[in-house]
Amino acid sequence: MREERGMRTRQSICEKKARFPSEADARAAADRTGLPLLPYLCDRCRAFHLTSRTKGKRLPKAYFHETAA
Ligand SMILES: [Zn+2]
Repeated sequence: MREERGMRTRQSICEKKARFPSEADARAAADRTGLPLLPYLCDRCRAFHLTSRTKGKRLPKAYFHETAA
């Protein structure tokens, strides 16, 4: 079975991205970058990655509050 949509891209993204053992670790790393990166749990490696694709997602206000400064 071939995986035409989504999965292949996610695989490559997974391999390229930094992995974090917990959401807290990912969030801390995002905070250091100063960018509005969002931690998410990867269903391939079961670790957390960061994504900059924040459009259309609801971000917790506390997250912006922490990174705004
Ligand atoms: Zn992954």
